Amino acid sequence: MKLVTYDGGQGPRLGLLSGDNVVDLADASNNALPSDMRSFLEMGEVGMEQARAIAATPGQGQPIAGVRVLAPISNPSKIVAIGLNYMDHCREQGIQPPKRPTTFTKFPSSIIGPGDEIRWNSELTEKVDWEVELAVVIGKEARNVSAANAFDVIAGYTICHDVSARDLQLEKGDQWIVGKSLDTFCPLGPVIVTKDEIADPHDLGLRCLVNGKAVQDSNTKELIFNIPYLIEYLTKGITLLPGDVITTGTPDGVGAFLKPPVFLNDGDEVTVEIDGIGAMTNLCVEEK
Ligand code: ZN
Repeated sequence: MKLVTYDGGQGPRLGLLSGDNVVDLADASNNALPSDMRSFLEMGEVGMEQARAIAATPGQGQPIAGVRVLAPISNPSKIVAIGLNYMDHCREQGIQPPKRPTTFTKFPSSIIGPGDEIRWNSELTEKVDWEVELAVVIGKEARNVSAANAFDVIAGYTICHDVSARDLQLEKGDQWIVGKSLDTFCPLGPVIVTKDEIADPHDLGLRCLVNGKAVQDSNTKELIFNIPYLIEYLTKGITLLPGDVITTGTPDGVGAFLKPPVFLNDGDEVTVEIDGIGAMTNLCVEEK
């Protein structure tokens, strides 16, 4: 299933894609299902089963083209981000792959949806960079989960654009959280694809395009620490909750390591896409 959060004029609603239509899951279930993604994910398999039953009936809903698609989840309890997790990204920096995952966070307040503007003030940063990433959405409370059982706690996958202010992140004292969590610096979407529809999350093509030109073009095969490893590593000491997002790192091709470096500018249009999930485009706006 492809799950979305959308606004058809009544505020944010939880929906299911059915062909070119979106089905309001609360309406279709007579409010047995909630109207927001996090509450839905908190229902676990019970909610998924009801959604699947609704998905089995075609010809429902309204055209997706007529609604505004929002970030699939806007209020996760946390976003855990993994840095330096692609072999090709280490090669482009001329560094050895790390021995354990590099972790940081992006605050939920930085989340925006497809079509929203990535905005920054030029007094704060002038080195805004792109990073396409496969994001895992948690579907079950998870603590001390072994790698062998990791897929049990996954609801599905989405795309995270880990927009990064490199000057804040790296040049002004290793301020990773500030550099990664500025408002609007976490485009998320366009859908959550449930895990049953992704045969192998470690074999997905992913790309980032700036003004239509591909700047990143890789495959999740390049991941150093795979998804089960990350879930085991994180849940040894951190409880993951339904709706939490783990964004798994970015491949090579980020602007900071190009020669000369290239950063995002006012008016640029950035698209991140992952095979089997979709594509999301955001416009960049630099405030002077
Ligand atoms: Zn990243």
